[in-house]
Amino acid sequence: MEPILDAHCHLADPRLYPDLAGALARAAAAGVETIIAVGAIETIETDRLTVEIAGRHPHIFAAVGVHPHNAADCGPARIAALAELARSPKVAAIGETGLDFHYMHSSAESQERALRSHLELARALDRPVMIHCRDAERRLCEIVRETGLPPAGGMIHCFTGDAGAAEEFVKLGFYISFSGILTFRKADAPRAAALIVPEDRLLIETDAPYLAPEPYRGKRNEPGYVRRTFEALTALRGADASALAARIRGNAARLFTLPAR
Ligand SMILES: [Zn+2]
Ligand SMILES: [Zn+2]
Repeated sequence: MEPILDAHCHLADPRLYPDLAGALARAAAAGVETIIAVGAIETIETDRLTVEIAGRHPHIFAAVGVHPHNAADCGPARIAALAELARSPKVAAIGETGLDFHYMHSSAESQERALRSHLELARALDRPVMIHCRDAERRLCEIVRETGLPPAGGMIHCFTGDAGAAEEFVKLGFYISFSGILTFRKADAPRAAALIVPEDRLLIETDAPYLAPEPYRGKRNEPGYVRRTFEALTALRGADASALAARIRGNAARLFTLPAR
C-alpha cells in the first residue's frame, strides 16, 4: 500500500479528540504517514491543543488560525496569540483562514479583514497559508492578486470549485487539496477540476471529522479515510498509484517543509 498523507484535518475537534489514539492507529494501518492537523475550531484552545498533539507525534504537524466562520473574533490580540503559538517548529502552516460566502457566519468584511491578517502573518513567519474557500473563489483571487501569496506559498483546502477556479488558483501559485467530496455522486465540478490540476500541485485531505467520503458519508470522518479520496483521485486521473502517491508526498514535503523521512 502506497504511503499517503492527510493534508488537513481537525484532530482537536471534540468529535475526534476523545478517540485520537484509535483514529491514529487506523490511519497508520491505512498507510497515512503524515498528518497536517488544523486548529481553528472556534477558540484558540483548539489551536493550542493541536500544537500539543503535534508535539507528541513526530508525523503530525500543526496549522493555527481563525476559521472564516469565526472571523468576527479575529482581532490583533488573536493574531498575536497565533504568532506566539507558531513559534513551535511543529507549526507548518497558518490557517485555516479564507472566505465562506456560503454560510456567512461572519460578515464578508470581517472575513476579508481576517484573511488579510493571516496572509500578513504567514508572510512575517515565512509559513504557507491554508485557505478555506466556499462560494467565494472570485473575491479570494482578487485579494490574493492584490496582496500576493506569501513566499512560502499556500493551499486551497477541500476544493469545491470548478475547473476554471482551480486554474486561477494554480496560476496564483496555490496547491489544491481534494477531499472526500471527490467520491460524492454530485461532484462533477470538483472532479473536472481534479483532472486539470498539474500533478506537482495536488494534495489530498479528509477535513475530518467533517465530510466523510463514500461509503462513510454522513458518519464521522477520520484521517484513515483519506485512502478513499486517494483511490478516487488515482482512478479519475488514470494515474499509477505509487507514482501519484510519491508526487503528493513530495508536494506536501515542499509546501510544509517537512523533515525527510
Ligand atoms: Zn475549511
Ligand atoms: Zn477544516
